[in-house]
Amino acid sequence: MEQEKFSPTIEDYLSIFYILERDGEPVIGVRLAELLGVSSPTVTNTLKRMVRDGLVVMDDKKGPHLTPKGLETAQSVMRRHMLTEWLLARMLSWSKLHKEAHDMEHTISDELEAALMEELNHPEVCPHGNPLPGHEDAVASWVCLPDLKNGQSIIIRRIHELAEENTKILSFLEESGVITGSRAFIKSNLPINETVTLTVGGKDIALGYAVAKYVYAELVKQPLAV
Ligand SMILES: [Zn+2]
Ligand SMILES: [Zn+2]
Repeated sequence: MEQEKFSPTIEDYLSIFYILERDGEPVIGVRLAELLGVSSPTVTNTLKRMVRDGLVVMDDKKGPHLTPKGLETAQSVMRRHMLTEWLLARMLSWSKLHKEAHDMEHTISDELEAALMEELNHPEVCPHGNPLPGHEDAVASWVCLPDLKNGQSIIIRRIHELAEENTKILSFLEESGVITGSRAFIKSNLPINETVTLTVGGKDIALGYAVAKYVYAELVKQPLAV
């Protein structure tokens, strides 16, 4: 059966809800407004529509959260987004995938979603290393850069969804060679300065924690040529 379809705006809210709930972050109006780039009254109005449509429930203690129907719809939006990113990865540079996929994801039918899943060999993560719904285990062992120590060898594995939203961050990371699959070395991690310096592709790249917290890596035991 074809799933009930919602507007692109509602689908965008569902994606953000899903990410925050998955990560155990509180879903509060101000945070939604900030992440979606809209005003608080707009968020309040949209949440009312989502409650009416049975996607979200308001809980006095826990705040708004997804209903089973909301969760299922959100997971489908996430899958369509990530599969579209893989499709576009054949044609576009890595830093442009998210934005283009974001505009296209709302038009993908259930049939096309299933066909893409087959064609793309059932990926567990998107091109930025974020897990398709149900594949959270695939990314569980990766560590965010501020938690790494001087001298550790790593492979960059994931740029969190909330950083994908920022095209400037993605372009900077791509230009710096900090993309999924890159080998790197932690030259220094200075909590007092809130800066991690990586050696990647023979160059040193300093990242503030504000960006570094969104970059996850796999630790490797053998030092690697970077
Ligand atoms: Zn994306
Ligand atoms: Zn992605």
